[in-house]
Formats: sequence, C-alpha cells, structure tokens
Amino acid sequence: MPLSLLKYGFSDRFPAKFQFTPTKNLKKHYDVVIIGAGGHGAAIAFYLAKYHGITDIALLDRSYLGGGNTARNTAVIRSNYLTPEGVRFYRESVRLFHELSNELNYNVMLEERGQLTLACTDAAIRSFRWRAEMNQHLGVRSELVDRQMVRELVPSLRMAENGRYPVLGGLWHADGATARHDAVVWGYAREACARGVELHQLTEVQGIDIQNGVAKGVRTNRGDISCGCVVQAVAGMSSVVAEMAGIRLPIHSYPLQAMVTQPYKPMLDPLVSSPQLHVYVQQTSRGEFVIGGGSDPYPLYSTRSTLEMKETLSAAILELFPFLAQAKVLRQWAGITDMTPDYSPIMGLSPVENYYLDAGWGTWGFKATPICGKTMAQLVATGTVPDLIQPFELERFYRFEQVNEAGATAASH
Ligand SMILES: Cc1cc2nc3c(=O)[nH]c(=O)nc-3n(C[C@H](O)[C@H](O)[C@H](O)COP(=O)(O)OP(=O)(O)OC[C@H]3O[C@@H](n4cnc5c(N)ncnc54)[C@H](O)[C@@H]3O)c2cc1C
Repeated sequence: MPLSLLKYGFSDRFPAKFQFTPTKNLKKHYDVVIIGAGGHGAAIAFYLAKYHGITDIALLDRSYLGGGNTARNTAVIRSNYLTPEGVRFYRESVRLFHELSNELNYNVMLEERGQLTLACTDAAIRSFRWRAEMNQHLGVRSELVDRQMVRELVPSLRMAENGRYPVLGGLWHADGATARHDAVVWGYAREACARGVELHQLTEVQGIDIQNGVAKGVRTNRGDISCGCVVQAVAGMSSVVAEMAGIRLPIHSYPLQAMVTQPYKPMLDPLVSSPQLHVYVQQTSRGEFVIGGGSDPYPLYSTRSTLEMKETLSAAILELFPFLAQAKVLRQWAGITDMTPDYSPIMGLSPVENYYLDAGWGTWGFKATPICGKTMAQLVATGTVPDLIQPFELERFYRFEQVNEAGATAASH
C-alpha cells in the first residue's frame, strides 16, 4: 500500500464519515421505538423522519443492521398476486422500488428482468389465466404465455415434452425484478440516521411495558426505555415479540433455505419459478445462480442449512436446467419465516394501544419493504390506518376475512 494512502487513512484531518449513528447510550425516552432494524424497521424510521418530521426514534436490533431475513432473502420483487388487496399493495411497492435509488441517493441496484412462473398442469394454466386477468385489471403487467413464448424467453430451459413435468406454458410478469437487499436496508438506515434517528445494534428487546392496555416502553438488555409508541418489525420473531406484549398472532415459523452456485457467463435473464417442482432460480449480475424453494417441512427457530434441502433443491432445479449438474454450490443459508394462514402479512393496529404490528412476512416481505415503511409511518404519525394495509389487519382472522395468497406465493417468493 502506498505510504501516502496509509497517511491519509490515519490522518484526523479526514475523519471517517459515519453512515449510521455512532454507538451512544440509549436515552430514557423516545417518541417512537422500532423493534427490528431490518429493511422494514429502517424504512419505517426513514418515512417517519422524512415525511412526518418525527425523528426522535430508536431503531433497535438485537443483532446488526439488516442481519435478519433482509440479509438472507433472494430479492425477488413482483406484484403478480391473486387478490385485489394483494395486487394493489405489492404494485405500489414495486412502483416505489423504481424511485428508491433517487429517494435514498443510494444505488439499490434494481434490475427489472421479468419473472416467468412455469405451468406443468392444466390446473396451473387455469389459475394463471385467472391471475393474469386480475393483474391486468389492476394495471400489473402479467400475461399467460404458451410453450413457444416460454422457449423464447428462456432458451436454456428443458421443456420436458414427454417428462414428468412438461412445460405447458407460463405466467409472464414483465414487472418482476430484483434489487440488492443490503443496499435497500443500508440506504434507508443511512438516510434515517442523517435525519436524527438513532440506530442501536446489539440491543435486544426483552419485554414490553404495558399499563392499562397501553404500550409505555420496552425493556432491553441495555436498560429500559419509555416511549410514545412501539412498532414491531421483527420478521421471523414476530410471535415471540408480540407475546411480550400479550398479543397472540396466528403464525407458525419455519426455516426457509436458499443456495447459490459458482458464477457462469450471463445466460438467464428472467427470474424463473416452478410451483409444481417447488423451486425458483435467478442468475445474479455476478453470474451466480441463486436457487430457492419451499420452507422446511417443520416449524423451527433455527438458521442452519441442511443436506436434505440441498438435495431437494438440486433435484428440482436439474429438471429445469440439467446443465447445472456441473455447478458447484458455493453457499447455502436459511432464515426464519413467519407464515400466516392466508400467506398475507399482519399489519396495522393491535389490541394494545400505541403498539403497532408489521408482522407475518413469511417468504414474501422483501418486495414489500418500501410500501411497509411508507404505510406504517403514515399509521404511526396520523393514527389512521391507510387504505392499502387495512385488509391486512390482525382482526381479519376473527372475522374470517382472510386475504388468501397461498397459490400466488408458492415457490415464487
Ligand atoms: C431464504 C429466504 C428467501 C426469501 N426470499 C424472498 C424474496 O425473494 N422476495 C421477498 O419478497 N421476500 C423473500 N423472503 C422474505 C423476506 O426476507 C422477509 O419477509 C423480509 O426480509 C422481512 O424484513 P424485515 O425487515 O421485516 O425482517 P428482518 O430483516 O428479519 O429484520 C428483523 C430484525 O429484527 C431483529 N429482532 C428480532 N427479535 C428482536 C428483539 N427481541 N429485539 C430487537 N431486535 C430483534 C432481528 O435481529 C432482525 O434484524 C425470503 C426469506 C428467506 C429466509
């Protein structure tokens, strides 16, 4: 290393600029405490600070910024859901993603590559036609495509005409995209901290102080904090944290795994998924193939990866892209996903006053990061539930008004 560079690095004339709040003591009181500094928590802090002028915020994480599911997801962004409530909500999030790099002055590396969901049965074709019509009706670019079009979109795909999973057609979603997940959370947190939000990592919430049905503060491993309100945005720990507030959520938590191969030359442009094979794949801008599928078969709080899942994903992906038989798997990992009965989130008010829920994000919450930040901030600042998230309130389960997205979520994330 040149000596001049070393001198520059150690010179106090050029102090390193903190991107996030330098570590400092917790204050005794904040207007807002956000539990969980993943993409959602950071986004909520950002929108509160920038659009509502609320900056006295503690953004707490028991681990490090973005180290939960935000760091572990496969970054699929799409809005081709089935229900009008779901399509409207995710459509708005995809729109916000397009503005995000400008909004944050931080490159989130959005790549709009389109997503192709394969149909191997007549039943799948029927349900894709339904989804395409619903999507088009709400202004989302989705269409049912035939085998020939599938072949043109993905020339390297094995069509398996006489195989067990013949490709009959697909649902083509031109709005499908990916973004760099760490950039999203770093961008939100940096801009929130620049406006006065305090990020406190290694700060675990261990209890919620509730008096007469009203949230008054949180207990952490670094001391107690009183606050005006609490927002929980803890993804895979939603029911554990909600339990501290005495709230029971209809959630079962499962590990979800993914893996990545060695890099290849660019050859797969769209994101491809197969609900029948329970697998999806995309080639990153680095050339690696990211491969994911369904959740582990049993509820568990563990982020270990397993040989069984590697075998399952490998067998499934080789049905679609046999050339990957030569590929080496470089990494495999897992996150904890909070699954709700209808595969939609739980957002909004809770039975505890001044305690807000951003939960139940299962396998699909990365793409919702901007819209969650925006709508939850609006709720906290104004006390009014935004129309877009009203269908996702916890109360829906007591009224049997589920927003069923199970079919539109399977293996496409
Ligand atoms: C393998 C995998 C692939 C996925 N693929 C996709 C995809 O392609 N597209 C998509 O849209 N979604 C996907 N998801 C889902 C997505 O990752 C999540 O829904 C999303 O990241 C949730 O964001 P979050 O900010 O709510 O949670 P997180 O990023 O998990 O942040 C929550 C934070 O809360 C902290 N926390 C927990 N308990 C406490 C406590 N007691 N005190 C303080 N802090 C606490 C955690 O440390 C964590 O940092 C995938 C998930 C996994 C695991």
